[in-house]
Amino acid sequence: MDFAEARSAMVEGQLLPRGIRSGLVIDAFKSVPRHDFVLPKYLDDAYSDYPLPIGSGQAISQPYMVALMTQCLALKGGERVLEVGTGSGYQTAILSRIVKEVYSVERFASLVTVAEARMKRLGYANFTIKVGDGTMGWEEHAPYDGIVVTAGAPGIPSDLLKQLKDGGRLVIPLGGEFSQVLTVAEKRGADIETTEICKCVFVPLVGKEGWSERA
Ligand code: SAH
Repeated sequence: MDFAEARSAMVEGQLLPRGIRSGLVIDAFKSVPRHDFVLPKYLDDAYSDYPLPIGSGQAISQPYMVALMTQCLALKGGERVLEVGTGSGYQTAILSRIVKEVYSVERFASLVTVAEARMKRLGYANFTIKVGDGTMGWEEHAPYDGIVVTAGAPGIPSDLLKQLKDGGRLVIPLGGEFSQVLTVAEKRGADIETTEICKCVFVPLVGKEGWSERA
């Protein structure tokens, strides 16, 4: 399989026709090797138009959804961004191509180990990942210009709003455990302005200000 060709086809066929216009986002998608972020048995599907299992019951999101969420952050380059839900590290890598610093929190240590090793091997250096409950954000590096939550939440975790800069954007799937609405929350002083983007389906955000873990 020619991965470079598959990557161009993904950008041309899945992102551009659906309204991904940000040059920064498109360039990042052209450069990050998605096939390095999937399990070996899914290599042939690495650039396909759907999510794929990554182990621990989690998934690498569909390329278009990663692009849309990144575009919704309205990045210009040079920012400091927080990601909640590292998973495969694919979105982390996309963000690291665009901004200055990426901080990412993942609840499964096994996924952190794999994502971190893979990102280092690929030469990304402007990211830091930790194991933890991302519904509490990552206070130490706050405030953030943008925050992206890559798991579905019942509501916006209050710590994430606190750790967002004034004028910053938080992109988060909000709703039920099995389907959500991708939502952008912009912080304007004491006000939060929310915009609903589209329906989506994410694995649940499990934590203090998310869903509780199932037995
Ligand atoms: N951006 C990732 C998406 C992975 S799926 C990718 O494209 O590969 C969402 C991830 O969120 C899962 O790995 C899940 O374990 C993680 N997650 C769920 N609740 C979390 C929480 N409270 N804190 C940190 N990570 C969480």
